[in-house]
Amino acid sequence: MIVTLRPNADADSVRRELVARGLWVTALHDGARVAHYLIADASSATSPDALRRIDGVAAVADAAPAHPRVDAHGPVADVRGAAIGGGRPTFLCGPCAVESEARIHTIAAKVAAAGATFLRGGAYKPRSSPYAFQGHGEDALRWLRRAADAHGLKVVTEALGEGDVGLVTEYADLLQIGSRNMQNFSLLKAVGRTGRPVMLKRAMAATVEEWLLAGEYLLAHGAPSVVFCERGIRGFDPSTRNLLDLGAVALLAHVYKLPVVVDPSHATGRRDLVLPLARAALAAGAAGVMIETHDDPGCALSDGPQALPLHELRGALQALGTVTS
Ligand code: PEP
Ligand code: MN
Repeated sequence: MIVTLRPNADADSVRRELVARGLWVTALHDGARVAHYLIADASSATSPDALRRIDGVAAVADAAPAHPRVDAHGPVADVRGAAIGGGRPTFLCGPCAVESEARIHTIAAKVAAAGATFLRGGAYKPRSSPYAFQGHGEDALRWLRRAADAHGLKVVTEALGEGDVGLVTEYADLLQIGSRNMQNFSLLKAVGRTGRPVMLKRAMAATVEEWLLAGEYLLAHGAPSVVFCERGIRGFDPSTRNLLDLGAVALLAHVYKLPVVVDPSHATGRRDLVLPLARAALAAGAAGVMIETHDDPGCALSDGPQALPLHELRGALQALGTVTS
């Protein structure tokens, strides 16, 4: 939105009025004089008409919203009867990859007993190296679904490419778009067309606006709801695998009022930091957390160092259940 000032306006007083309405304001100068204020907060409930009534304001130009469907989404995503957002935190737990039928059953039993709603696990794995374990594909989807059903859990798993979307839709309740695919627009369209709720991971170098626009793609092409997942962005410091952007989480939760969950496992790459950052995420307004867990992390086929040992999951989720935003 652009707020244009009258030539004789008291720019400071207009700024104070705008800030008092909770708006984030940037001044645009015409020579030494402040001529306009730019308001970047597209989610604001303040109407242009209300701003026009401020003393000193000549005009308010309201650009067409960039992501109207995201703006209208609301804080709760319904995933086939399970609400993410608007209440108690949702836990989405499981191994990085589905490794075998027996193992996913063992893990699912403990994930359910610990109080999680979703069983996660990759069947199609986005790996940096073509020589690393790529996932067991449709077998893994079948094992994951059976294990989830046996323990009353819902399934979240990734569609890595357009070719996987049909199969993943047969087995999953919540379709995951991985961070490496956040701007794979053909995939976003294909996943949107399934009409299923989607968990959209933020790309490692995406701005919040790009992330919201990716969500808009999904909603514009038919997804009924989108759960945004912050999983860490690229920082300069290799001490942790990524840099968890809790400011973005608070922004989505409190300003845009969207369902946002946090994945502290991929954000840190270290199991000893998963619980503290999961707490921080919930305190910042996250609607839930996604946690990788494994019965034998030392032998995991992927992401072992960040997997919480299965026997620690229940205590961790109990501790997280007491965190308030
Ligand atoms: C995952 O959750 O399995 C995964 C690969 O995460 P990301 O896309 O965030 O790297
Ligand atoms: Mn992983």
